[in-house]
Parts: sequence; C-alpha cells; structure tokens
Amino acid sequence: MVPELSVVIPMYNEEEVLPLLVERLRPLLDGMGTTYEVVAVDDGSKDLTAVLLQRYHREWPALRVVRLRANAGHQAAISAGLVSALGDYVVTIDADLQDPPEIIPQMLAAAKGDGVDVVYGVRNDRSTDTWFKRVSARAFYRFIGLMSQTSAHADAGDYRLMSRATVDAINSLPEHNRVLRFIVPALNFPSDTVHYKREERAAGDSKYPLLKMVKLSLDSLTGFSTAPLRLATFAGFGGAVLAVLLVLYTFISRSQGHTVAGWTSTVAIVAGVGAVQLVCVGILGEYIGRMYGHMQGRPTYFIAYDSMTADSGAHGPT
Ligand code: UDP
Ligand code: MG
Repeated sequence: MVPELSVVIPMYNEEEVLPLLVERLRPLLDGMGTTYEVVAVDDGSKDLTAVLLQRYHREWPALRVVRLRANAGHQAAISAGLVSALGDYVVTIDADLQDPPEIIPQMLAAAKGDGVDVVYGVRNDRSTDTWFKRVSARAFYRFIGLMSQTSAHADAGDYRLMSRATVDAINSLPEHNRVLRFIVPALNFPSDTVHYKREERAAGDSKYPLLKMVKLSLDSLTGFSTAPLRLATFAGFGGAVLAVLLVLYTFISRSQGHTVAGWTSTVAIVAGVGAVQLVCVGILGEYIGRMYGHMQGRPTYFIAYDSMTADSGAHGPT
C-alpha cells in the first residue's frame, strides 16, 4: 500500500539521538491521521545505530530500514531514501532533532492546501548554530548564487517536503554527488516555505566535520556553475597583461640607466604565478573529477540491507 507520507531520515552514528527521535516522531506521526512510513537510512554507521534501528523496526513496522554498505555521505544517504520512499509526499529531515518534526503536519497541510510540490523548511532563528557555521553558510550561499543561476534560500537546509512528482524528478537525475538543496529549487516546482527555529542537536556530536563541509561546497559549486573555469581564463589574461606591463617597466627603467632591483620581485612573481597556475589546475581537476565519476557510472552508494525485501522473504544483497 502506498502511504500518503514518507519521512526520510539519513543517519550516521546516531545511536545517542535515535531513542529521542523515535520518542518524538512516533506519537506525532500516529496523531496526524494519515498513512505514513519512516525510511531510516543508516549511512554505514559504525556504532549501534543499525542494532537499534532493527529493534525499533520490530516494534514499529512503519519504520523501514535501509542500510548502506559504507558511509556514502549525507546527500547520498538522502538520495537512497528518496529512491526507497513510496509516499505521495516525502519529507527529508535530519536525525538529530535540530529541525523540529512538529512542523511536518504544517508542511503537509501547506502542500495539500496550496497545491504546491515543495515546502521548504526555513530557519528563522539560527542562534543555536555556531558563529562559524552561520557566517560560512551565508558566505557560501551568496557565492553560489553569484556564480550560478540557481538560488537556494540561505536559511533552508535539507528539511523539506516534496511531492511524488518532485521525488520522481530527482530520482531520474543521473547526476553524481548531487547537492539537493540546490537541485530542488532548480527544478522549479511551485513551492511554499514554512519557518521554524533551529534547535540544538538533541544528543551526540555533529557528523559534519569541516572536510565534509568543504566537499559539499565544492560539489555545490562544480555541480551548478562553470564560472570557476572562466575565472581561470580571466586569471590567465590578467596575468598576461601584468607580465606585459612589467616587461615594459623594466625596459623603460633600463633605458633610463636604472636597473630594476631583482630578487624580491622575481621571487614574488614566480611564487604568485605558480600559485595561480596550481589553483587553475585544481579547478580543472574538480570538473574532470566530476566527469570521471560520472563516466564510470558507479552508484554513489550500495544498499547492504533493506527491511522491506528482508521482511517479504525476498533475497536481497547481504
Ligand atoms: N549524516 C549522514 N551521513 C554522513 C554525515 C551525516 O547520513 O556522512 C546525517 C546525520 O546523521 C544527520 C544529518 O546527516 O542526520 C545531518 O548531520 P549533522 O546533524 O551531523 O550535521 P550538522 O547539523 O552538524 O550540519
Ligand atoms: Mg545537525
């Protein structure tokens, strides 16, 4: 049977938060008067998340479990959940209760009432986020907005409700390393927003170290803009103009009997040019890496276990 609502929750090492999540989510969903399923995507957790999920699945059959073979990352885990979700409407939400599940009914009502396909959860209060996270996020969204034609709400994350049509559209995209918060607005489905206050993480620590944040930023940038490539070209032209000016300057100085003092300027030029070249090669590398991944066509995640096939007795991958 197709439920009206699917709630997709990616989780990586969330054993501490899981009991709190179930405790808050279950009565809420039970009280909504709608058919629902929860798709918990275990993103290759190394703690007791898998064990706990199995236990919760037994006592709460509406909670389905999809386990990825290895840690594939937040976005890949959500993607896996979107493929698995059956509902007419699908909500994606983090496991750590930073995004209060209590506004899910509001999101569903907005989608049904206004007939929109996407309802974005927008944080109107981020005081619980760190200073660094707020500033870096703001700079990041502004930069992406500047470099590409897409726009995502700067205070919207991955807490949103999507219609079946939207989810099908996302699932049909072959793109690797996709960043959903930019892809969804780029699909241009009619949308609404619902505001909420971002809470503290209910338990455990952030699973988003700086390195993963950098990866997300690079994926967002290379996924939505080729402006950095053009920037590299401009840097090349700029460098060439500077070089011509410099040569002119040395010749003119020479003709007037001065010699240009050498060492400092030479080292500065060599170091500067070297740095610009490396950055440009790095930019090229980012795009080539993306194309390489795409050409190989390997999935970004592998499913190790799916409670739906396991329950039906079908043989899934082990
Ligand atoms: N997450 C995941 N895979 C990862 C990292 C994170 O599935 O490799 C999940 C995590 O369990 C949480 C959500 O993504 O449900 C957001 O992560 P987190 O709350 O740690 O990020 P933050 O809020 O600190 O940015
Ligand atoms: Mg969080």
